[in-house]
Amino acid sequence: ATPTSIMVGTGRAAEMGVLFRKGEALQALRDVAIVAVDKTGTLTRGQPELTDLTPSTGFEYNEVLALVAAVEARSEHPIATAIVTAAQERGLAIAPLENFEAVPGYGVAASVGGRHVAVGADRYMEKLGHDVAGFKNEAARLGGEGKTPLYAAIDNRLAAIIAVADPIRETTPEAIRALHDLGLKVAMITGDNRATAEAVARQLGIDEVVPEVLPQGKVTAIHELRASGRKLAFVGDGINDAPALAEANVGLAVGTGTDIAIESADVVLMSGDLRGVVNAIALSTATIRNIK
Ligand code: ADP
Ligand code: MG
Repeated sequence: ATPTSIMVGTGRAAEMGVLFRKGEALQALRDVAIVAVDKTGTLTRGQPELTDLTPSTGFEYNEVLALVAAVEARSEHPIATAIVTAAQERGLAIAPLENFEAVPGYGVAASVGGRHVAVGADRYMEKLGHDVAGFKNEAARLGGEGKTPLYAAIDNRLAAIIAVADPIRETTPEAIRALHDLGLKVAMITGDNRATAEAVARQLGIDEVVPEVLPQGKVTAIHELRASGRKLAFVGDGINDAPALAEANVGLAVGTGTDIAIESADVVLMSGDLRGVVNAIALSTATIRNIK
């Protein structure tokens, strides 16, 4: 492409809310064969809601919710917001906490009124020495519905299975169809568990899923998806997406995301959803075709 055609292409993109931080990205996008997307906040709204809480024998619903919300009050994860909101809606008091600990990709723990409370993924419970096998059927059912199963442990006993659901953005199905029409494969990278990720992928017609990815594992996930030599675009928004945005052949940050993600990206999507990716790729194909 000539410098002029790239200027025209990037200018037209800007009008559509697609900012090319690097002109070369316009050409690189044309060669992309697979678009990998971070699930939370990009495919979904990033605002999950509490949908289920089933206490173990000897625990009460409100007791578990209040204790778990007390711990989550310190966390900034979207799951934490869902749990705290649910507790507030029930009029439960959020007690003060001590010794808060966040384990990225696993969960959070603290002491609340002298009780030890931990909440997080199955792998977190296993790390803490709890056997989640008793909730296996329930977890499979929740995951099959696209909900994220979580567990609460109180005073070293497994106290409940909890689920949150993050609604899919209204614009996502159409954007995925458009990417498929452009001949691209779509992959999902997520920290969420396999059953949940696969249910959401099935619902959306997503071609490949890399689930249970720890925050520092996204770069490895990109290497796996690119193993066959395909050029890959990665779309993400979070702080932990920055290395993956830099590693992809083209990194696209959603504009509503964090500064560090935006600085690591080649392209910034102002719209905050996947339609910006479709526009960027369609534009890149049109621009490069025009000057050939
Ligand atoms: P994602 O961005 O895909 O949600 P994360 O790495 O942020 O991935 O989280 C992965 C998993 O770790 C979550 O699905 C959840 O099971 C668990 N987790 C992380 N933070 C919390 C938290 N504050 N409360 C409960 N669970 C959490
Ligand atoms: Mg995240």
